[in-house]
Amino acid sequence: MTLRSTPWTGALPVLMYHSISERPPKETAALAVTPRAFAAQMRLLKERGRTPVPFSALSPTTGTSTAGLPERPVVITFDDGYADFHRHALPVLDDLGFTATVFVTTGWLADAGPDAAGRPLDAMLTWSQVREAAAHGIELGGHSHSHPQLDQLGDAALRDELARNKELLEDRLGRAVTTMAYPFGYSSARVRRAVRAAGYDTACAVANRLAPAGTGARAGDVLAIPRLTVGPRTTPELFARVVEGAGVPRAYLRERAFTKGYAVVRRARYGARKAARRV
Ligand SMILES: [Zn+2]
Repeated sequence: MTLRSTPWTGALPVLMYHSISERPPKETAALAVTPRAFAAQMRLLKERGRTPVPFSALSPTTGTSTAGLPERPVVITFDDGYADFHRHALPVLDDLGFTATVFVTTGWLADAGPDAAGRPLDAMLTWSQVREAAAHGIELGGHSHSHPQLDQLGDAALRDELARNKELLEDRLGRAVTTMAYPFGYSSARVRRAVRAAGYDTACAVANRLAPAGTGARAGDVLAIPRLTVGPRTTPELFARVVEGAGVPRAYLRERAFTKGYAVVRRARYGARKAARRV
């Protein structure tokens, strides 16, 4: 593996998790982290003096600047809303006094009822667990209603995916939801415009690089803030290296975590040929 690194000078790590599970189904296995590895990673953040802040701590005015944030901030995010967040992640976060941001696909929730949409990849959170997480200081963000490839939708369907997700979360939580993550981690300029029109201030993508310090306040940047994939192949050494800001080994992250993980998820949902074309 190539260890050529990007120098790090105060850039902000935004970590992306999916499932925290010992035995994930094959649909999520490429992005699942074991409960034991997750707990060790969170302890490491604590030991290294990192202070988690919610994703919404980044704003259109401050962008990814760490000014005004605690010293050595980190953002911990979870996509989709798997039930194992409640079982395995929340107790660890709670013990350490850590906040995090969970991006919820509302149509996938276990008790979505008449709002059920899309095909969840594993057991999902219930609304009461989502509310419980919020009561424990966890931020909830949007992740579309049914987890489509947003750039493939027409304008009306795109608006509906974003609006329904945001409204359901805001209704059930009784608070504003101002941040979101793109399903599959990427967006087009048209999707980003729709996200802004839907009322989101910030959104995150997947780029497997650190969010550069202080450059996010330019128009558009805060709607595609890069995150780092943490997955089953993220070794303790790599995690420590990222957290310390020693740099991100590009080849490892790009080829193993990002490409493999997303290729698998997209293939699982949409078929290999389409995924091969688009990932
Ligand atoms: Zn997702």
